[in-house]
Amino acid sequence: MGRLDGRIAVVTGGASGIGEAIVDRFVAEGASVVVADLDQEAAAALLDRHGDSVRFQRTDVTSEHDVAAAVGVAVSEFGRIDVMVNNAGIVGAVGPIAQTSVESYDETVSVLLKGVFLGTKHAAAAMQPQGSGVIISTASTAAVVGGLGPHLYTAAKHGVLGLTRSVANELGPHGIRVNAVAPGSTVTPMTTNLRGVTEADEAVAARLAERSLLGVAALADDVAAGVAYLASDDAGQVTGQCLVIDGGQTASGTEVHRFHAGSSGVLRGAPGDEH
Ligand code: NAD
Repeated sequence: MGRLDGRIAVVTGGASGIGEAIVDRFVAEGASVVVADLDQEAAAALLDRHGDSVRFQRTDVTSEHDVAAAVGVAVSEFGRIDVMVNNAGIVGAVGPIAQTSVESYDETVSVLLKGVFLGTKHAAAAMQPQGSGVIISTASTAAVVGGLGPHLYTAAKHGVLGLTRSVANELGPHGIRVNAVAPGSTVTPMTTNLRGVTEADEAVAARLAERSLLGVAALADDVAAGVAYLASDDAGQVTGQCLVIDGGQTASGTEVHRFHAGSSGVLRGAPGDEH
C-alpha cells in the first residue's frame, strides 16, 4: 500500500530535475501522473519507466489553454485530479536591476508566477466539485529571504508563497489543501547548467554541500520526498504552509548571489542559453 494509491496527479515541469523526481516518487507511492512539460524528449525515459501510470501532455505553463488541457487530460484519462504540482520553472532574468529589461521581466514572471496561478486556478476548478484535492507549488528559499537568487526570480517566488497562503484560505472549506515547498540549491539540470556549460552532478554536489549545515548536497529526490508528504494524508492538517528543504541554509544566514553581477539576460536552464 502506497500513501498515494489510486491518486491522480498533474506535475508541471515533470520532465526534468525536481519534477521528474516527484513523478518517480508519486508513481512509487501508487499514483498515476500527467507530466505537463514543454520538453517531450526529456520525458521519454519517464514514460518508458512507468508505462501506463504516466501520460505526457505538452504544456507551456504560461498558456491558459495548455494548463487547462493538462488538467483536462487527468480528468479524461484517469477520471479526476487529486494532486496538482505547480513545479515548472526557469532561472529567468539575471543581472543588475537597472539593466533588467521589461521583456525579461515578463518572461520570468510569466513562467514562475503566472504558471502557478494558472495551475492553481484550473486545479481548483476541477477539485471543488470533488470536495477534495491538494495543490503544491515549488517555491524556493528565494521565496523566504532575499539574496539567494536573481531579483525577479526572488520576487516571483515570494509571489508563489503569497498566492499559496491566500488561496489556502479560500479552498480550505472546500477540502482542498494548498501548500508550497521551498528547496534550497538542489542538484538538477537547472543548477548544473547555471554557469553556461553543463557541469557534472558530482562537481555541483560538492559545491552545494559546502552551503549545507548537513554537509551534503540536496538531490531532487530530497525535495520530492517533501512533496509526496504534502500530497499524502499524512499532511491532512497542513495547509497554507511552506516546507523549506534546504539543508538548513536559511537557518544559517544568507550569501549574496552572483546573479546580480555581470551582464543582464534571461537564463532558461539550457547551457549557453543566456541573452
Ligand atoms: P529543471 O530545469 O531540471 O526542470 C524544469 C522543468 O520545467 C523542465 O522540464 C522544463 O522543460 C520545464 N519548463 C520550463 N519552462 C516551462 C514552461 N513554460 N512550461 C512548462 N514546462 C516548463 O529545473 P529544477 O531544478 O527541477 O526546477 C524545478 C522547480 O524547482 C522550479 O520551479 C525551480 O525554480 C525550483 N527550484 C529549483 C532549485 C534548484 O536548485 N534546482 C531550487 C529552488 C527551487
